[in-house]
Amino acid sequence: MFKKIIIVGAGIAGLTLANFLKKNNFNNFRVYERFEKKLSRPTGIQLTPNAVRILDFLDSRFFLNNNFNRINYLNINAVNSKNFNDKSDLRINLQNIVSDKMPYLTCDRNILMKFLEKNLSSKEIFYNRQVVQTIKDHNIIRVKFNDGSEDYCDLLVSADGMFSNSRLDNNIITNTNFYAYRGVLKNFYSKYSLENDVIRLWLSGNKHLVTYYISNQNDLSFTGISKSTQKTKLTNDHINYSIPFPADEFRSLFSSENKILREMLDTIHEVYRWPIFSLKKRVFYRDNQIFIGDSSHGTVPFQAQGAALAIEDSYVLYEQIIKNITNNLGVFYFNKRNKRVRRIILRSHLNVFLFHLKNPFFLLLRSIIFKVIEKSFLAKKIMFGWIFNYNPRSTSYFF
Ligand SMILES: Cc1cc2nc3c(=O)[nH]c(=O)nc-3n(C[C@H](O)[C@H](O)[C@H](O)COP(=O)(O)OP(=O)(O)OC[C@H]3O[C@@H](n4cnc5c(N)ncnc54)[C@H](O)[C@@H]3O)c2cc1C
Repeated sequence: MFKKIIIVGAGIAGLTLANFLKKNNFNNFRVYERFEKKLSRPTGIQLTPNAVRILDFLDSRFFLNNNFNRINYLNINAVNSKNFNDKSDLRINLQNIVSDKMPYLTCDRNILMKFLEKNLSSKEIFYNRQVVQTIKDHNIIRVKFNDGSEDYCDLLVSADGMFSNSRLDNNIITNTNFYAYRGVLKNFYSKYSLENDVIRLWLSGNKHLVTYYISNQNDLSFTGISKSTQKTKLTNDHINYSIPFPADEFRSLFSSENKILREMLDTIHEVYRWPIFSLKKRVFYRDNQIFIGDSSHGTVPFQAQGAALAIEDSYVLYEQIIKNITNNLGVFYFNKRNKRVRRIILRSHLNVFLFHLKNPFFLLLRSIIFKVIEKSFLAKKIMFGWIFNYNPRSTSYFF
């Protein structure tokens, strides 16, 4: 058994791992987070059933309260469709895809963070402690902090996100040329009585927009994604995701004749924008250092699977740790994760292609594919079943 585990980063990946270790009486771990503990602005997050299932192992039926919003349908609209119930709109029923009825949820990311922080004490998470260097010394890893102090462990878990400095090779970060525009409309009551259980995907040429309610208080999250012609250089600014963007420019970028979209756009006052990066290759382990979440395989967020993969990684790693696999832990972990992570990254890239089509022939082909998925249960299972049914406690998860 490992004597002491250090987890770098109190994001979704690091906190999920810490929670599973604690719940199962592995108490000799520490999480180090470079920032202060504070709530960020509200931002929406989608928790697909594969993520919800694992969080449910941690706290059975955690989602049975008003903080989590249940999603039943995915609506696909064209940004420029004039009417609400335009014939080209599609509605995919997401309720019957998973066999164990795990829900598809949306929430404010702060709610998820609070859920993951609530059982961890100040002897387990240390805020304001930035890891600046890690040095391997035989079987021990020395971890150095920005205040000059040090700690030691025999297993180091890097959960420090896309811009991980413990990964050392940051030349694998690549600029996708996409920008994310995000915000939340507080208390958004649409005069068109929008349903709370629908995620709306609005497609248009080289951009798309995703909107969904994140709570029963009618807070509506929006995420716009648009391709830029300018190359963005990686700077520290990109790490805190809080660069305000003029709401008017956002409105004109996504301007639409659709009355619902127009109503939403007219109500938006605060928009934040940041460039989207991804990793050129996946990194799972190096000696007794394991990578989880975005530090391992950060990718474009077009399948709502970034946090879900981080949660899956944490659970799978935790299972290997408590099985007492100390030799070749990295190899076991790699074998359990690599194939699935690769498939999900490929799907995210396929979505980039599908969502941003312009050519009329391909647009027609896309609408046929979407129609088939809408109408055929089998097609829907093929499209989403392997993603949402994933259960690390079971070997078969396709249906
Ligand atoms: C626009 C957008 C929308 C998204 N929407 C969704 C969605 O709906 N559903 C979904 O599943 N995913 C979504 N994602 C992806 C998801 O947010 C990430 O994949 C997920 O947060 C990764 O979690 P993580 O813990 O690996 O990394 P992070 O959340 O980046 O956490 C890393 C932590 O490590 C800390 N840290 C970094 N360096 C150090 C250091 N040297 N010392 C100490 N601490 C350090 C950081 O401060 C941070 O707290 C979205 C992403 C984007 C960009």
